[in-house]
Amino acid sequence: LRLEVQNAGKLQVISDLTSVFAHEIRNPMQVTRGFLQLLNEPDLTDQKKKYIRLSIEELDRANEIINDLLLFGKPSTNCTERVNVGNLLQRILNILDSYTTSQNVAVTTDINDDCWTNAVPQKLNQCLVNILKNAIESMPNGGTVWASCAPTGDGQIQISIKDQGIGMTKQEIDRLGSPFYSLKKSGTGLGMMISFQIIRSFHGKVRVTSEKNIGTEIIILLPKAG
Ligand code: ADP
Ligand code: MG
Repeated sequence: LRLEVQNAGKLQVISDLTSVFAHEIRNPMQVTRGFLQLLNEPDLTDQKKKYIRLSIEELDRANEIINDLLLFGKPSTNCTERVNVGNLLQRILNILDSYTTSQNVAVTTDINDDCWTNAVPQKLNQCLVNILKNAIESMPNGGTVWASCAPTGDGQIQISIKDQGIGMTKQEIDRLGSPFYSLKKSGTGLGMMISFQIIRSFHGKVRVTSEKNIGTEIIILLPKAG
């Protein structure tokens, strides 16, 4: 229990800090990255080139962490509004289109137009991007992602993101959403943590089903807006 309390405190700190500082931090990082690239001249010693390469890699890693935590969101947008989930999902897929194509991933959608929920659009956006990114990353040789949303019979909206990727064992599913849990070479282990947190904040639920080497389906249930 103590560990849980500590974790909850840690999560709150992470989420407060990101919403305030993420955007402010990204700009100086971009500037630094630019100057590092300018320093990288052909006649440098191999060792100096290596230091520059490592510095740029570390900056990119820091940028990934910010992406997982706060992709398009602006700090201080915390107002819940009526959101059309289908439109949001379609817009995200359009933005991710060139990325999915470059990864040899095809996307099949089944979007019902009548999916309304109360949410902060930017946060729901962040959550879906993180889950879609994982689905794409789970298929290093490409494949299909199915993305759908529809109202359920009992007053909820069901969003499903399904892939044909590497899948997860029961133990791996249980660890999903723990801070810094990642099996990827340069993963942040923050994407699912923040996604679960966002879904919880909108009184939603998540169900994960997965089979090793077959694929994963993430189902999000959100309350239907009146
Ligand atoms: P990251 O993507 O940076 O590793 P996440 O929190 O987004 O961090 O995901 C945590 C871990 O959960 C991933 O490293 C991966 O092992 C596993 N995971 C998440 N989504 C999927 C998926 N769709 N298929 C297989 N494994 C997944
Ligand atoms: Mg991720």
